[in-house]
Amino acid sequence: MVTSLRDAAAAHVRPDWIPALAELVGDAHVLTEMPDLWVYSRDRAPYATFHVRNANVPATLPCAVACPGSVAELAQVVRFARARRIPLIPFGAGSGVLGGALPLERELMVDLKRLNAILELNEIDGTVTVQAGMNGGQFEAALNRRGFTCGHLPQSLHMSTVGGWAACRGAGQNSTRFGKIEDIVVGLAAVMPDGRELRVRPVARRAVGPSIKDLMVGSEGIFGILTEITLRVWRLPEARLGVVLAFPSLQAGLDAMRTIMQHELRPAVVRLYDREESDQRTAGIAAFAERPFLAIMEFSGTRRLAEVEHGLAMEIVETHGGSRTDDAPYLHWQQHRYESYSPKWQHSDHSMDTIEITGPWSRLPAMYERIRREVLGVCEGMYFGTHWSHAYPEGACQYMTLRLPPMPHADTLRLHRRAWDLAERACLELGGSISHHHGAGLFRNPWLRTELGVGLEMLQAVKDHLDPDNLFVPGKLGMRARPGAVDIESTEDAS
Ligand SMILES: Cc1cc2nc3c(=O)[nH]c(=O)nc-3n(C[C@H](O)[C@H](O)[C@H](O)COP(=O)(O)OP(=O)(O)OC[C@H]3O[C@@H](n4cnc5c(N)ncnc54)[C@H](O)[C@@H]3O)c2cc1C
Repeated sequence: MVTSLRDAAAAHVRPDWIPALAELVGDAHVLTEMPDLWVYSRDRAPYATFHVRNANVPATLPCAVACPGSVAELAQVVRFARARRIPLIPFGAGSGVLGGALPLERELMVDLKRLNAILELNEIDGTVTVQAGMNGGQFEAALNRRGFTCGHLPQSLHMSTVGGWAACRGAGQNSTRFGKIEDIVVGLAAVMPDGRELRVRPVARRAVGPSIKDLMVGSEGIFGILTEITLRVWRLPEARLGVVLAFPSLQAGLDAMRTIMQHELRPAVVRLYDREESDQRTAGIAAFAERPFLAIMEFSGTRRLAEVEHGLAMEIVETHGGSRTDDAPYLHWQQHRYESYSPKWQHSDHSMDTIEITGPWSRLPAMYERIRREVLGVCEGMYFGTHWSHAYPEGACQYMTLRLPPMPHADTLRLHRRAWDLAERACLELGGSISHHHGAGLFRNPWLRTELGVGLEMLQAVKDHLDPDNLFVPGKLGMRARPGAVDIESTEDAS
């Protein structure tokens, strides 16, 4: 059953252990008032937003929010929760879009934003160690003031935390040059479900079995709470050369992108847009009349390196029929790169979402055509637009935006999930991965079994061992839910 905020508030019972929790972190750092519980009842998952605009709680309210001010306090909170069998969810900034931070059974939210210090910038090793709750925008600004960047610049830079980046295995907009978060993170610390500390010392590489770092990066809180991350940093680039390109066909643009990557060039930014998205960004620019597909690229580093990479890439672009044109779309993208368009649409009763998948170059065109056809068939008035970014020698991220027109709430939920199902199934059938960088959270549970196969059982076995009472972020990332947890698929059917 879907619960209205009014009913959830009426049913709310303040746990009797709140005073004991307050002794650990201080009265001011335990939130129990209804406005706070309402705010922490969701992240930025569009599914949750659709409920919130109808004054429904997406799943449940949390029972309370604890905001520890140190790693020692955090470990105490974890031990406290374990002793009382209280399920909990670490909370960074709540910008996740898959419902990872959604309470399903009145979990205790553990907000990490007070763990927000840069602990060390090591200019010789080219690394920075930062507490996990630090805001991404503040972190990057502090590095920039010292002449560095960490190269991880997600669109959500200012509304996410460094710990959240690692927890969700994210990718920034400059990832083609600097790598994804798993390439940038070289060490970490975490509080495990039994309160002990896990430490992966920052070194360039190790050959001592499977990577424990990689077990934690992308674990979305199910194995422990990240407290400290050591990341690579780079000197701020001397030059940034942005270019706007017009291609005669989508295939020509994809071929140019692939060839650039397979020739060992590493542009900081590569973005190729389909016809819908190109048209929105190129109105009035003559070059796009003949070559309607837009691409943006940026080359950065020392000036000489950026110029050489730019020159070589332009030769490849020309071979594929592309030409350089007006800088306006690049400048516009640069100016707006950290803005979110979805609130505008959600507030006008449209229902917008994005799905990011990874495909091999050989399958991307078929993946795009099939998903586009099937998603547009979900309902009249559906919008579907795509761009390709985060390029690799083997393939790229296909980032799709869909938008349902205004319709009754129950239909929105049903058709929204239908569109997702079509996209994720097509991706799997054509050899892709169901998520490139947003993670799995709650909403991707239905497709994880096919994505991971027996690997999902391996993750569950590790989880069962580390967290025998299933208290850490239960029911997410394909893991077993606890009895009594809300099943969002059944609430969709009933709404
Ligand atoms: C407009 C918009 C644009 C976005 N653009 C990008 C993008 O360009 N690239 C990208 O990768 N993502 C993007 N995202 C998704 C999201 O911002 C990222 O997943 C981000 O890394 C989440 O960080 P957070 O601190 O907000 O995490 P939360 O939303 O607070 O948490 C996400 C999950 O991680 C867990 N978690 C959080 N912190 C920790 C921790 N310290 N230890 C263990 N578990 C933890 C939570 O329990 C939850 O399961 C975007 C989202 C929005 C709304």
